[in-house]
Amino acid sequence: MVAADFEWDEENDQYICPEGHALRQFRRNYSDPGRGKNIAGTRKYRALRATCQACPSKDLCCPNADARYVTRTPDEDARDFARDCRKTKAYKVSRDKRKKVEMLFAHLKRILNLTRLRLRGPNGARDEFILAATAQNLRKLAKLRPAFAGMKVAN
Ligand code: SF4
Repeated sequence: MVAADFEWDEENDQYICPEGHALRQFRRNYSDPGRGKNIAGTRKYRALRATCQACPSKDLCCPNADARYVTRTPDEDARDFARDCRKTKAYKVSRDKRKKVEMLFAHLKRILNLTRLRLRGPNGARDEFILAATAQNLRKLAKLRPAFAGMKVAN
């Protein structure tokens, strides 16, 4: 089981494990709000040892430890937001579009050997990129050519 399998309970400042048990930072109240954070601000949430020892999922969850713990960094809320975004349809569309663009740049660099510009100045760079993009588009067009191009045409 990975940390993502544990549900964050903001209200009670605890994680809930897949078996439904709470992982807490402290089991008693302290007056010091900074207590339990390391220098980076990371906090550690632990399950009770007795709970994990009696749990049927222990071998999957923490086979080499007495009890499971999950760490929470100060920017975990932003990470949770990013993880939620990754599940949306809009993210999948944008990811596919990003890949298409990145593929074109990779193609420019590796196949068309555009690792550096030969012409000087912004105008030279623009000209080189226009030529490279033209070559890419011609290549795409060639791929769209109908399959019967090699066949004999009967009159
Ligand atoms: S081993 Fe502990 S933390 Fe893991 S699922 Fe079982 S009770 Fe929860």
